Amino acid sequence: MPLLSNPQAAQVSLEYFPPRDIAAQERLVRSAKRLAALNPSYVSVTFGAGGSTRTGTVDTVQMLNNLGCDVAPHLSCIGASRDDLHAILNDYRSRGIRRLVALRGDLPSGMGGDTGDLHYASELVQFVRQHHGDAFHIEVAAYPEMHPQAESATRDLQHFVDKVQAGADSAITQYFFNPDAYFAFVDQARAKGVSIPITPGIMPITNYTQLARFSSMCGAEIPRWIRLRLQDFGDDKASIRAFGIDVITDLCARLLQNGAPGLHFYTLNHADAVVQICDNLGVPA
Ligand code: FAD
Repeated sequence: MPLLSNPQAAQVSLEYFPPRDIAAQERLVRSAKRLAALNPSYVSVTFGAGGSTRTGTVDTVQMLNNLGCDVAPHLSCIGASRDDLHAILNDYRSRGIRRLVALRGDLPSGMGGDTGDLHYASELVQFVRQHHGDAFHIEVAAYPEMHPQAESATRDLQHFVDKVQAGADSAITQYFFNPDAYFAFVDQARAKGVSIPITPGIMPITNYTQLARFSSMCGAEIPRWIRLRLQDFGDDKASIRAFGIDVITDLCARLLQNGAPGLHFYTLNHADAVVQICDNLGVPA
């Protein structure tokens, strides 16, 4: 029994990261082919996250493009010169790329010094619009639970508004497990005049240790009741997975039932959990 009254209307997009070796690449190809059945509106490819290289992003974009996906590379400005950014953007245009996820990014820890020519994502959005007009649909990041380095929630919201005013077309949120955080953020953004779609980023729960590590880095809160249940499961992967699928299915259903424009899944290059969640929701595959 589908959880949504109109599951066909749910827009799904997917995030992948550049694989590090041949085996990981083969896994990504298998996942991307399986997830293509969900008819994603686009797939995105991370840039520089977890130590991956720029070439890794470009190669993965090309590979997914060859599989027929509409691909949106992530582009971060931190540590890059204007010339670097010109070269990357021109390259993407020559490959037929028409969508970007524009980010500030993070310098690898311990690397102080050269933060590049642009300092915030809003400047990158402005740069892309100035030099490439409307050639790219620009996604930006949003933080319902506040960016971990923000001076305050109010300033963080204003900086999000700055990105929209610089020309962003839509936004993807950092993941969260409390739907109220998302709806409160959307309400506050609307009150500031933001009308672009703000799509919730969804992190399937499949591995507690990994989730706890990601969450402490990005500031996403794992609610106490979820954390305690996951801790109780210990090494019982099947129970973690079954519980995680239930929690995330329920989160997605509440988001879509209450007006979220779609779901952007952080796949971590795995298909199973996303397929199962979409199946539970009744999203056609
Ligand atoms: P910004 O919007 O520039 O904000 C960064 C911080 O600066 C915030 O605290 C903000 O409040 C503050 N700020 C903004 N403007 C100003 C200003 N004018 N003055 C003072 N403070 C300001 N990271 C990667 O390395 N690679 C990826 O591929 C990647 N993909 C991501 C995809 C999504 C959907 C999300 C949500 C995050 C992703 N990240 C990725 C993580 C992201 O790079 C980090 O969260 C980074 O710290 C902030 O990037 P941003 O684009 O949100 O930055």
